[in-house]
Amino acid sequence: MTRTPLMAGNWKMNMDHLEAIHLVQGLHMELSDANFDYSKVEVVVVPPFTDIRSVQTVVEGDGMKIQYGAQDVSTHESGAYTGEVSATMLKKLGCAYVVVGHSERREYHSESDALVGEKARVVLAAGMTPIICCGEALEVRKEGKQVPHVLAQIDGALDGMSADDVKTAVIAYEPIWAIGTGEVATPEDAQEVCGAIRGRIAELYDAETAEATRILYGGSVKSSNVAEIMSQQDVDGALVGGASLKADEFAKIARFAEL
Ligand code: PEP
Repeated sequence: MTRTPLMAGNWKMNMDHLEAIHLVQGLHMELSDANFDYSKVEVVVVPPFTDIRSVQTVVEGDGMKIQYGAQDVSTHESGAYTGEVSATMLKKLGCAYVVVGHSERREYHSESDALVGEKARVVLAAGMTPIICCGEALEVRKEGKQVPHVLAQIDGALDGMSADDVKTAVIAYEPIWAIGTGEVATPEDAQEVCGAIRGRIAELYDAETAEATRILYGGSVKSSNVAEIMSQQDVDGALVGGASLKADEFAKIARFAEL
């Protein structure tokens, strides 16, 4: 596989800026030995906005290879948008990735597929990589409609995006019923939808674009299940919530190839 695996830890609204420094230092220590090669697995932490400057200071100061990003972004460049944070601001803080369209944003902030697509384009235009989230609710899964549901989200989010942008972007398939519940999709469930997403990218663009685009699985990923999930051919990494809040556990996930 030519796609470099990506392990991204979404901290959500956890960790103040001091706790963030400790967590990143702990993760760095856990990954500092000859067995771990950052060129073979990208490791990304996604803290709350208030922690990003502290994470930048410790990552740059200690020359760490851990990358970092943000959990959301405004579609506006600047101006009277109280509470919002622009892509340019995030880029200036050294963010490499921005999560867009997480199911918690879609649910609690009514984010539509069109808005998610707009955010993804703003992130790309600022020179960062969007991690575009998609995934079905339990009712959709019970009806067996997870594939058409997710593909409709993908169509909306990729609308108007060039093939080069899609190759840069990362898609994260996160079944909502598996997020923070301990209920992990089977590796076959993950493969079914991740494979369908790659197929859709091939239809919308071409085979080369589909082969280049990284697709992550997210939903109760832990060190005990990551290796099996990563063995699926269309799963290129994981978006990890709860298990990314402990340095040793997230490091084990990043070391999935050694498990
Ligand atoms: C997430 O929030 O993206 C997530 C996958 O959470 P968890 O790993 O806790 O299920």
